[in-house]
Amino acid sequence: MALLIETGMTGWISNEDLARDIGKSAPDLDLRTPENLGNPAEITMMAVANLNTDRMRGLPNLKLIQKLGAGVETIVHNPALPDHIRVTRLKPDAPAQGIAEWFLAYILRHQRHMAFHQAAQSRSEWVSKAPVYSPDTVVGVLGLGHIGSRTATMLNMIGFQVMGWSRSLKQIQGVTCLHGADALPQLLSQCDHICAILPSTPDTTGLFDARMLAQMKPGSQLLNAGRGDLIDEAALIAALDQGTPGHAVLDVTSKEPLPADSPLWQHPSVTITPHVSGWFLGDALTDVIENFRRLTAGTDLLHEVDRARGY
Ligand code: NDP
Repeated sequence: MALLIETGMTGWISNEDLARDIGKSAPDLDLRTPENLGNPAEITMMAVANLNTDRMRGLPNLKLIQKLGAGVETIVHNPALPDHIRVTRLKPDAPAQGIAEWFLAYILRHQRHMAFHQAAQSRSEWVSKAPVYSPDTVVGVLGLGHIGSRTATMLNMIGFQVMGWSRSLKQIQGVTCLHGADALPQLLSQCDHICAILPSTPDTTGLFDARMLAQMKPGSQLLNAGRGDLIDEAALIAALDQGTPGHAVLDVTSKEPLPADSPLWQHPSVTITPHVSGWFLGDALTDVIENFRRLTAGTDLLHEVDRARGY
């Protein structure tokens, strides 16, 4: 039984470096890389950031695909994925903390008028503008899973009024939790900032269309760190032009990298960050090792994805 490391991603850690890091913590593991594949029939698990479908097809005894991250939509919706192959993801603290901080940073930028003061400074002008008081500010967090619950809790501790939304009802101290599709318009209409951290599924794709964007509070801010396909980008630009919402902060876009000719780049009410909100993997590699051991032993896997549900 062997574990194949094939990130399928350039500009990130190389397969060899990742295999070396894993090998340091687990020298007994039979680790393979595409350059050192050996007998494909011996490979039972693949660790990937982007799944190489041709490679998967060439591994007759593959049982588990471990995503080196959280979003699994390109794996579970891959039509070539055989029914018997299980999928696991990672749930490290580091990206959850990082994404919560990313939301907080862009909410505070707005509350404290940072762009306004920077522009005034560039003109050597001393111009006062009252900050927005956090306890008077309502923030909605869409998705209350591993990352969203952390975000909602952090924002509540800082003093914002926090509302949360998920598929099933949650209980999070200090957070007003709503659930189900019918509750979303009510939440949107009350929030000054919406922090979206939802997976990409058939139910969430295109959820923020013209109709849903129109439910938002005029002048509010929409922040998305989940997946870009949540938002109909043409509808967003039209909505921003009308002032509802007033600003969008996007760490994810429907096409990544965002094409140079996308109107989002130059829109005055849009801020783009290039999928950097959850940068750090932290100590997640230990879960990759643990899942290989569990697969081999035939015990429950860590963070197994419900393939039918899509996350
Ligand atoms: P989880 O699976 O832990 O949580 C997902 C949450 O979304 C759950 O609360 C779930 O509800 C909710 N949800 C799913 N579908 C719906 C729906 N139709 N209506 C309402 N709520 C819904 O995922 P994570 O928090 O770990 O991550 C969320 C997403 O963030 C990932 O799927 C990934 O795409 C993205 N991500 C982005 C990163 C970045 O760098 N920008 C880094 C990491 C992740 P319920 O609890 O009821 O099931």
